[in-house]
Amino acid sequence: MEERSFKYRVTDGWLRDLASEPTPNDSWPCIRWDEKLLEDRIRFLNVQKELDMTYNVVWGLFINHSWPVPFENIIDDRRSELLKQFVQSAHERRLKILSGVGIYSWGFDEVIKKVPEVSAGHNKAMCLFSEKAWEWQRRVLDFLMEPKWGLDGVSMQSADQGRCNCEKCSKLSPAEHHAIILTRSAEYIRANRPDWVIGQASWGLRLDEPSEFEHIKQISKAVDYMVEVQELSAFTGRRKQIIENLDCAFGSVGGVFVEPPQHWERLRWFLPCGLSSAKAIKQLWDDGGMACEYFYRPFANPVEELSWRVGARILKNPDISPEDSLYEAVKAVYGLGESDSKKLTEWFIRAENAYFSRSNFRIGNGPISLEPLVWSENPSTPGPAIYLRDRMSPTTLTDYADELGRLKSELISMNISNQAIEKTITAINGTLNDIKLLMG
Ligand SMILES: [Zn+2]
Repeated sequence: MEERSFKYRVTDGWLRDLASEPTPNDSWPCIRWDEKLLEDRIRFLNVQKELDMTYNVVWGLFINHSWPVPFENIIDDRRSELLKQFVQSAHERRLKILSGVGIYSWGFDEVIKKVPEVSAGHNKAMCLFSEKAWEWQRRVLDFLMEPKWGLDGVSMQSADQGRCNCEKCSKLSPAEHHAIILTRSAEYIRANRPDWVIGQASWGLRLDEPSEFEHIKQISKAVDYMVEVQELSAFTGRRKQIIENLDCAFGSVGGVFVEPPQHWERLRWFLPCGLSSAKAIKQLWDDGGMACEYFYRPFANPVEELSWRVGARILKNPDISPEDSLYEAVKAVYGLGESDSKKLTEWFIRAENAYFSRSNFRIGNGPISLEPLVWSENPSTPGPAIYLRDRMSPTTLTDYADELGRLKSELISMNISNQAIEKTITAINGTLNDIKLLMG
């Protein structure tokens, strides 16, 4: 019998996106790796295994913005050892580890500064027509493909930071341009590591435009799966048709992607969104989707673990209802009996609706940032709560605070006492406090 599951059940994010400790004094993305983070990662792998996820894409295993020039001493022995332990722990759980990799951009800031021939003027993206650029790209791919790391593949991104705008590159349409560098890279990887999985995430690149379809099709011949970050093809009703005509698995980021706030204490926010993710993932399945890059959550916040579980469960079993998936997740995270779990499930349905019925976020429309990822006022201090400030009017915010207050009282009056409930109450207080700060 055919298995009714997504084929590429991927979870992904930057190295510390699931960390139990914030890094309030570092610029984003901080990729510090210590014993505590390894512990967090293994805890996450355990839940991944429990829910039968298949792949884990990590950004920042080796670098954040810049591969070094010259290309040497990429990581020290200690980091190398942590990486080895992580990969081994994943393999013991039958999970595969893919590395995120920038294609012609992301990771080449220093290369662009020091090796002028690679770029034709863009300070983040190398030029498609530069031989030197392809040499540097190959160097990075060769490095990742070294068997000593034990990696099982890559997820490629080429468009997140724009693209070369030189005279020659500008003659190519965006999809045409990205198809060339993505296909070139994927074919190189295939030739060297036929055992590898190759994913592609389309940050910054639209997949839904009919005039660009032939180029998207070309990418699909070279990769195993591609991910549409904003589900624009679904909004316009074209997704099913696109999926039918591509040669690889197609996916999304799972409806709601809450960008983990690097600088914030882990119990500063309360934003349940598992049901919305689960519903979006079911729609993707109905359209023929078979892949999802479903983002990491910091499980130190139980509501984040809950949300992650609700969507992840649907990837394995798209036939169960989002509400049933929520119920299972509530049982697992809060460790309660049937009756309390049912009550709490009903409560979470209302709590999730409280935010999404008031906010201007459209499910499937990319990320919700809690704080700005990169904050211009000071990139290395905690930023303001923009998921509140920029998503609701002041009147609606006041109304939302009232509703959160009611929900909190109800939760307290359920008389369930355990650590996860205490943390949930702290998280609600965190959001209420941010609303108070915004209302000044
Ligand atoms: Zn160019």
